[in-house]
Amino acid sequence: MADSGLVFLRDINVSLLTKRWWRFKNEKGKLWWNVIWSFHHSAKPLCYIPTKLSCAGPWRQIGKISPDLNSDGFVLNKLFRTNVKNGETNWFWLDMWVNDYPLCNRFPNLFSIEKSKWCVVADRLYMIDGVICRRWDWQRDPTSLPYFEEFRGLLSICKHVIIRPGKDKSIWCGDHSGEFSVRSLKGLLLEMSLSRPDNVFEWNNWLPKKVGFVAWRVVLNRLPTMEALAKRNILVSSLDCSICGKRMETVDHVFISCDFSQAVWCLISQ
Ligand SMILES: [Zn+2]
Repeated sequence: MADSGLVFLRDINVSLLTKRWWRFKNEKGKLWWNVIWSFHHSAKPLCYIPTKLSCAGPWRQIGKISPDLNSDGFVLNKLFRTNVKNGETNWFWLDMWVNDYPLCNRFPNLFSIEKSKWCVVADRLYMIDGVICRRWDWQRDPTSLPYFEEFRGLLSICKHVIIRPGKDKSIWCGDHSGEFSVRSLKGLLLEMSLSRPDNVFEWNNWLPKKVGFVAWRVVLNRLPTMEALAKRNILVSSLDCSICGKRMETVDHVFISCDFSQAVWCLISQ
């Protein structure tokens, strides 16, 4: 097993990168989304979000977290689902929105002859007078071998789909609220025994002692954050983060979700 200090850092990094993934799923059309799309989308998707391994930078790390976790037996993709309504943001083949697998995994032969691998549900399915209609775009005839069986399976899944007004909604299955949180992912990683057990801290000899000491206090939640001080009845002028001022200053915020720490983690992941 990897050194627990490193595993701890990796879990924080994975959780942070996954948060970007969640945002990508939910912020289609925003400027940053368009930039990522224009740099990273390719005709042959390697991942469930557009990632070009030839492009250096933090986004490549984000694309790699899923295969990296898969090799540890943790299937990240299964934690992202979409509740499809108008079908305008949900990838038809790549997202998990019907059954427990993306259609590209269930029907790999059909996916190989799809012309537009990044098509959304609304590109392929639409309603007329309450009846679901289909609009395919194949490179070859899907009713020929070896595609026919898969095509029949796909048709039988599609006939139960209902397209209706309203935006598609991403759901994070790692928390009952359906909203992604770094905390919930860290909890899942811990459950999957990918993390070190609670309150057992192995010192990493690579680090200066004072850095290890801070990490140890982080693990135990023993840092004098505004939240911790207030809990001990120490008078503080404000509970807000002293760096960004946007959220309550908790250990998780300071080391994970604060804009400043996110920038630091991004630099580390580069
Ligand atoms: Zn902050």
